[in-house]
Amino acid sequence: MSTPPTKPDPLSSPQSSGPWRSRIALAMAMVLGFGVFGVATVRLVPRAMDEGNGRQATVAELTGAWRPINNDCSGGKVVFTFDDGPDESTALLLDQMKALNVHGVFFVNSVNINSPEREAIVRREAAEGHIVGNHTYDHTDLVTGVATSGLTLSPWGPEQVANELEQVSARLEGLGISRPRLYRPPYGSISPGVDEIARKLGYRLVMSWGVLADSNLVDSLDYRGLGSRDIVDRVVAAVGPDTIITMHDGQNIERTMNSVAALQPIVDQMNEKRLCSTTDVRPDATGGVLDPDVPPELRGHSLDEG
Ligand SMILES: [Zn+2]
Repeated sequence: MSTPPTKPDPLSSPQSSGPWRSRIALAMAMVLGFGVFGVATVRLVPRAMDEGNGRQATVAELTGAWRPINNDCSGGKVVFTFDDGPDESTALLLDQMKALNVHGVFFVNSVNINSPEREAIVRREAAEGHIVGNHTYDHTDLVTGVATSGLTLSPWGPEQVANELEQVSARLEGLGISRPRLYRPPYGSISPGVDEIARKLGYRLVMSWGVLADSNLVDSLDYRGLGSRDIVDRVVAAVGPDTIITMHDGQNIERTMNSVAALQPIVDQMNEKRLCSTTDVRPDATGGVLDPDVPPELRGHSLDEG
């Protein structure tokens, strides 16, 4: 059906000392009294923008003079989605989304809900009006059974696919969060058989990208390490009514902060286009990937993506 991923897994690929360096940096910020809320956002967001594209942060960014999303939906509605969390920087992302009054769908890997702090973050996602979706237990490729370690799990079949999804839902329900109704397959790796298993369990597919010109799924490619300006350019060029934007909060903190920094310019453009933010994902979010008319070579494209 498919070949194993050729790209290193974003979750498991070595990223030098990034995550550890980030944890140390975040811990230092906490020790210095910046806290997770408010000030940390103001300090970290401009730094992410500087690192991403070399430009200086504006006064508004430094002072936190946010320009939130308008409630004008006359141009249509847009869904922000974030994959692979929760992670150390998710709280900062939630701060920024709150400041901008935008809501989204967080497709979580429950293996990352591994501490009381992470439990609190996922609870906060739900409490602040976001949707918590299912991104599998540990980001194993649902079609091939290739784990993040690179090993192919065996046996791999319907029971294992169901288990990957159901572990997430059980974990979330244990935290008092509603059972997810949306799922997003890791790497966008999907087949009709896998989707049928998921649908029978009550999950609806939301792809991270599409293969058709009118798919209207905009992958920010933030997981590739794009700077915030490039993320903004990619998203703004394509955003319109019913767009689903894909970003990540489960990569290293630098990448997540680039996406965090991109939110305000994206919101500015949405306000210009009279687009508002919603968590209601449109009925067809499959990106055309399961369309039998889509040639196999395009469907194989899925395994190159995060
Ligand atoms: Zn993912």
